[in-house]
Amino acid sequence: MVETDLSKKWNYLRKILERSGPFDTEAFTPSSDTLDFLHNTCKILVIGAGGLGCELLKDLAMMGFKNIDVIDMDTIELSNLNRQFLFRRKDIGKSKAETAAEFINKRIPGTKVTPHFCKIQDYDESFYRQFHIVVSGLDSIVARRWINGMLISLVRLEEDGTVDQSSVIPMIDGGTEGFKGNARVIFPTLNACIDCNLDLFPPQISYPLCTIANTPRLPEHCIEYVKIIQWDKENPFKCALDGDDPEHVSWVYEKAQERANIYNITGLSYRLVQGVLKNIIPAVSSTNAVIAAVCATEVFKIATSCYEALNNYFVFNDIDGIYTYKFEAEKNPKCLACSTVPRMISINNPSSMTLQDLIDYLCTNVEFQMKSPGITTMINGKNKTLYMSTVKSIEEQTRSNLTLSLHELNLSDGQELIIADATNPNSIVVKLKFTDNEVEMY
Ligand SMILES: [Zn+2]
Repeated sequence: MVETDLSKKWNYLRKILERSGPFDTEAFTPSSDTLDFLHNTCKILVIGAGGLGCELLKDLAMMGFKNIDVIDMDTIELSNLNRQFLFRRKDIGKSKAETAAEFINKRIPGTKVTPHFCKIQDYDESFYRQFHIVVSGLDSIVARRWINGMLISLVRLEEDGTVDQSSVIPMIDGGTEGFKGNARVIFPTLNACIDCNLDLFPPQISYPLCTIANTPRLPEHCIEYVKIIQWDKENPFKCALDGDDPEHVSWVYEKAQERANIYNITGLSYRLVQGVLKNIIPAVSSTNAVIAAVCATEVFKIATSCYEALNNYFVFNDIDGIYTYKFEAEKNPKCLACSTVPRMISINNPSSMTLQDLIDYLCTNVEFQMKSPGITTMINGKNKTLYMSTVKSIEEQTRSNLTLSLHELNLSDGQELIIADATNPNSIVVKLKFTDNEVEMY
């Protein structure tokens, strides 16, 4: 039995949901059923209970969504409290998901937020399949790619090969970095997914070593150079570099500045040095508020069909005034995650290219950006693990393959490699193409 909520609390939503208007979509019929659906049926998964997650939970609960699950593996730290407003000093050390859920449930009666204090990778398809919409406020690209891959794998095809629309779980993805943010709407396999536009996420942590060493263009390159190369060479404090030690940071700052001067690079600051050394992404609460509001609005639009969803990528920047822009990110027919065509890797020197070289390529190439790929293949009808770093015993057994060339490993032209990586819950297949040309990707 569905109980109709007659309280005045939701009158502002009734004005939108129970009357027709000029912006309705074709799928929209004014009715009190829609509010019932929000209250009693619609299940939303919020991924991340940090800066964006706190905002999202508050926004969604205030918009009438009553069945919300939240998943986050982190615990609360002191430095979170300036913006993650569902947490108090007494909560330090507790689970973010559990504390956030308890706060919302108490503050907004009738809301049932269910917390999951774990990694997204701890759950399988049956967990994710129960939700109508997934909204993510993550600070990790690997986690984003993983959930993206998961939602793609839930998509079923009809007998005629078309997508079974009922198996498509929309994903609204928000991201912020300092004064910049973005929100996007992904209908898995139907429009551009996270991996379709991987080039929008330049590798954050690792810059190519050759750039750092030979052609630095950014202050970050200079800092990385000192961190990776100069520190070990000069070893000024006879110990490992510690990003929390002010003397270490000052030394890196000084040396990076010298290098920046040589290459006429500006913009280096002590703060930036700290950020690069400790890998800190600065957080600005107002950016989180804007992006979460956009994401929650998209969830509402998709759940109710009262308005066309964002198509499909929104960017926000308030470094200098307020700038917003919307564009349609395009589906990449060669996408690692949502395309079924095996990806080609062209190799011109299979007798000198080692397995380690191939792994480095998978990690540094902008369209792969893998973390620690495990590679298996089929040789003479038998499965063979070439390398896998995640299981200690297998790593030890396969380590010697790293220095062997692709020829020595008996890999041939057209060889299919099955690659497992933290960036996707499913393995992907790439095909090696041996050519006489330069190494390039198709
Ligand atoms: Zn894709």
